[in-house]
Amino acid sequence: MIHDLHTHTNASDGTLTPDALVQRAIDLGIDVLAITDHDTIAAHHSLPDVSGTSLRIVPGIEFSSRWMKIGVHLVGLNVDLGHATLLEGIERQREARLERASRIGARLQKVGVADPLPHVTAIAGDATIGRPHFAKYLVEAGYVKDFSAAFRKYLGAGKPGDVRDIWPSLAEVVAWIRACGGTAVLAHPAHYKLTATRLRALVHDFTDAGGHAIEVVSGRQHASVTAKLAELSVDHGLAASCGSDFHGPGSDWSELGRFAALPANVTPVWESWD
Ligand code: AMP
Ligand code: MN
Ligand code: MN
Ligand code: MN
Repeated sequence: MIHDLHTHTNASDGTLTPDALVQRAIDLGIDVLAITDHDTIAAHHSLPDVSGTSLRIVPGIEFSSRWMKIGVHLVGLNVDLGHATLLEGIERQREARLERASRIGARLQKVGVADPLPHVTAIAGDATIGRPHFAKYLVEAGYVKDFSAAFRKYLGAGKPGDVRDIWPSLAEVVAWIRACGGTAVLAHPAHYKLTATRLRALVHDFTDAGGHAIEVVSGRQHASVTAKLAELSVDHGLAASCGSDFHGPGSDWSELGRFAALPANVTPVWESWD
């Protein structure tokens, strides 16, 4: 069984429509697919009918949160898509993203980028606006040669476009996910570039807040990273999740479902589902 429990569509910063993502999952033999766009569940309202296929789709979301001044992503799986707390959380994030985009726009303008906000807003269209839309604009307008340079020079940690004090706290977002019946998952713990001590503190606080699982496998990662994350999950009594964090074909991101199996010593997050 292939579970891919972290993927994006063009409702946030992925490139595929929900239809195309689901078709790709079927073609690649995925059994269980969670669609987890940044701060939106819009894709779940325009899914194709998958009855008659072997694919099961899990309603999900990837919320942005703040822990100790860093931006931390929390995936909610099996959330109740109609729950008032979820919808209120999404509305709050929508406003935060708009406010953040205008702050990023103003900061980029100060470092010489000519009036980015109207262009970036047009690029984002109906999607939840984020830094990848700024990156796209910076490439298109010739300020940088590619996406990775856009993050390196303008949008990544410590750069003008890195605005993260706008997000709700990690504990608050875990509470939203729990309130709507979801499983709260700490996304890609190795991406935050924390020391071992700080990472342990993050996992500890996430556990304290009521988090359920951590992504022990996120895309293609080194086996030594997987082993460390498995140990953290076991030590904190957390279940283990896995996902590609797929954003589109042909990008630097992993292909759907193409990542290592969870180690034998962890409890897969889906074991407690129906
Ligand atoms: P945001 O949600 O607006 O903070 O944007 C975060 C998203 O930007 C991540 O989910 C990635 O899709 C993308 N991203 C972050 N860092 C990089 C990077 N160095 N290169 C390319 N994309 C990145
Ligand atoms: Mn993304
Ligand atoms: Mn993420
Ligand atoms: Mn993601």
